[in-house]
Amino acid sequence: MPANHEYDAVVVGAGPNGLAAAIRIAQQGFSTLVLEQSPKVGGACRTEELTLPGFCHDVGSAVHPLALGSPFFSSLPLEEHGLSWLHPTIPLAHPIDKTRVATLYQSLEKTAPLLGRDADRYNALFGPLVTNWQSVLQEFLQPIIHPPKHPLRMAQFGLLALLSVEQLVRRFSGQTTKALLAGLGAHSFLSLSAPGSASFVLMLGLLAHAVGWPIPKGGAGSITQALAHYLLSLGGKIETRMSIKSFRELPKTRAVLYDITPRQLIQIERLPSSYQKRLERFKYGPAVFKIDYALDGGVPWIHEECHNAGTVHLGGTFGEVALAESKIVSGQQAAQPFLLLSQPTLWDSTRAPADRHILWAYTHVPFGSDHDLTEVIERRIDCFAPGFAKRIMGRRVSAPAQLETMNPNLVGGTITGGANHLWQLIARPTLSAVPYRTAKKGVYLCSSSTPPGGGVHGMCGFHAANAVLRDFHRGLK
Ligand SMILES: Cc1cc2nc3c(=O)[nH]c(=O)nc-3n(C[C@H](O)[C@H](O)[C@H](O)COP(=O)(O)OP(=O)(O)OC[C@H]3O[C@@H](n4cnc5c(N)ncnc54)[C@H](O)[C@@H]3O)c2cc1C
Repeated sequence: MPANHEYDAVVVGAGPNGLAAAIRIAQQGFSTLVLEQSPKVGGACRTEELTLPGFCHDVGSAVHPLALGSPFFSSLPLEEHGLSWLHPTIPLAHPIDKTRVATLYQSLEKTAPLLGRDADRYNALFGPLVTNWQSVLQEFLQPIIHPPKHPLRMAQFGLLALLSVEQLVRRFSGQTTKALLAGLGAHSFLSLSAPGSASFVLMLGLLAHAVGWPIPKGGAGSITQALAHYLLSLGGKIETRMSIKSFRELPKTRAVLYDITPRQLIQIERLPSSYQKRLERFKYGPAVFKIDYALDGGVPWIHEECHNAGTVHLGGTFGEVALAESKIVSGQQAAQPFLLLSQPTLWDSTRAPADRHILWAYTHVPFGSDHDLTEVIERRIDCFAPGFAKRIMGRRVSAPAQLETMNPNLVGGTITGGANHLWQLIARPTLSAVPYRTAKKGVYLCSSSTPPGGGVHGMCGFHAANAVLRDFHRGLK
């Protein structure tokens, strides 16, 4: 390392991607420093007592198929650094109305027959993907433009992934199947008629059947704590309460990797103007309105399946989910919003006092929305779980503005690092063979605003770090 540099690499932001990037670089023997604005590491993957003492809520992510399936995280000794996984009996239940519920088990063989006349088609869709899940994930958790190592898998998944959810569900005839797939597709924050929205159905369904939809014991923070401990064991350094406002505040370094989004990068760095203009065009997409509950008992679900489900999608029929999501995308509030719920204390007693529970709930809202949806959300849960409201001991409401205050990456309440429309899945944040490199030498982006996008998998950080390492080998000064 040249003497005028204090570190080989400085990473701004200690989210899962920032930590992954720092680990990858430290693993190669380079000196690495992570600077985090918050008092704690983890970004949108942390666990805090948000409501009452002893109730440990996930401030951001809660359910982690991508973390367990991540090719990079799987290569790290995170169990030795405190991470352990819990698998809910039923990964996902999706009540359609008071009498019908769609149930997704980890076992494909157990799930398909529940879908009646769609069983064979469901098997035909997911069977080949599940059989080859590791190579499918390797191909798709990286920039879309790349020479494929597994061209057959790429074609198998890629052609279907380009479809909209609406087009994909036309293969099925049952209301239960359609509702189930709509719930998976809604994770895209796209209209279900948008091209490419089917990729979320395929990825989340594939992960459910391949690795499950697990939760980390102790909460999401256990993932980032384990990453941070491992980084320290490699000799990396972490400094918290370090909010970087300008590149001039950084220690001298050969490379800086920003675990932040384009809008923030423009504020901090002086970038070539044509590149800056391209970043200014980056779109953020819809946001979330989140509530964390402390409850004096489990949620009193009507459907037995929901009592054993880690995640519950409250969205009703395909049509209801599609309508809610299309409203949000067009900037309106949905009258019957689609809700995503996680009930970790059914499996993890460390997260609440005895006989008490927590519930994590959010719904999609337009970017930056300031509507208070507390009543709408509680009425909707009460519909499928009469008496729910009476169990509430405490709640923490996080509207988009509060989310962004907690973590500046959650711009306008967006949780995906940027909109997921097809063009921006390809050009993330700009069209480039190496989108992690910015137009300024030695400056890189490593957040979920780069491929493969949102979710706790660390693959944005991993690929960004590889770009840095390649540049080190080419003699970056
Ligand atoms: C409510 C919610 C629910 C979610 N649910 C899931 C889920 O169930 N499963 C899943 O896989 N994913 C989920 N996600 C998405 C997932 O959490 C994110 O995609 C992931 O955390 C992105 O990681 P990151 O490292 O890119 O960014 P972040 O996790 O946002 O980390 C960025 C870090 O940078 C820091 N930072 C920002 N600016 C500065 C600065 N100027 N100086 C210093 N530090 C700075 C921030 O404080 C933060 O710690 C959810 C997110 C939210 C908010």
